[in-house]
Amino acid sequence: MQTNVEKIFSFIDQEATFIEEQESAPYLEGIVYALELWLEEKKKPDLVNPKKEEIRKAIQLGILKGMNRSTQVNHQMTPDAIGLLLSYFVKEMNKDKKELSFLDPALGTGNLLYTLMNVLPNSSHAFGVEIDELLIQLAAQVGELLEQDIQLFRQDAIRPLMIDPVDIVVSDLPVGYYPDEETSKDYFLHTEDEMPYAHHLFMEQAMKHVKPGGYLYFLVPASIFESKQAAQLHKFIKENGWIQAVIQLPGSIFKNKAQEKSLLILQKKGENLQAPREVLLAKVPSMTNREAMELFFQKIDIWQEQNNR
Ligand code: SAM
Repeated sequence: MQTNVEKIFSFIDQEATFIEEQESAPYLEGIVYALELWLEEKKKPDLVNPKKEEIRKAIQLGILKGMNRSTQVNHQMTPDAIGLLLSYFVKEMNKDKKELSFLDPALGTGNLLYTLMNVLPNSSHAFGVEIDELLIQLAAQVGELLEQDIQLFRQDAIRPLMIDPVDIVVSDLPVGYYPDEETSKDYFLHTEDEMPYAHHLFMEQAMKHVKPGGYLYFLVPASIFESKQAAQLHKFIKENGWIQAVIQLPGSIFKNKAQEKSLLILQKKGENLQAPREVLLAKVPSMTNREAMELFFQKIDIWQEQNNR
């Protein structure tokens, strides 16, 4: 008997392949078509008590297949291994809060954000910003199927955002230069001698949209503090928040060294709040090594307890 994940994937794959072959349209557009049929109840997979994570995982498999065929460089999804690791941090660091609101200013397909929202019992609502029309369409459909309370904005996230401050920002940031000088000129992290980094501007924008004391979880280039613009970034962080942790992710998750990322955790300054006692600097071991992963999580728990004393 097929599992729910298998049934959903077969349904999506069949419809997307049909669109790809009959209409010569990209497979990813075929997924939008399949999800539309499902949402409008015109055709849908025959499921038995599907769980949110089953739906997310199965659609993710379809999107991964579509992205492997896509030629667009921004068509990238945050791998599940990273999403699950990140949820551990978010859960541990926000246990005391009854409700959590989220913002992902580089939402993509929403896979990272939905992984977190599905896992965290106290997640309430979220905002997502994405510039790519196809990706935000997928994110909207998946959000609806998962019954997540999310408001989406299709726009350049560096431009002004009409979003109330949230408890948590989480984002796998787009990496590279940001070309629109008119938009970036009012940013502290704007640079005169070369184009500013998009990932730096995203951090500044996110800091504006998080509540005092709120946490920001960013996936950033592993070499972020070695660039020419790093001194300015340090200055920005020091004035507005605190670095809580810098966690190097295992190289095996990424296609090559240049694409390697780290998890940078910041906290926005707020009244009666203090800098962390200790900044966590850690390296995630190979995720297939169970014992090493258990030790890693123990280390995080100890750090978390000491910081909360
Ligand atoms: N976490 C996402 C997921 O799981 O699907 C993947 C995020 S991907 C690494 C970065 C995203 O940022 C891409 O989808 C890209 O289209 C988007 N992006 C790039 N520049 C942007 C901008 N100026 N404003 C909004 N989104 C942007």
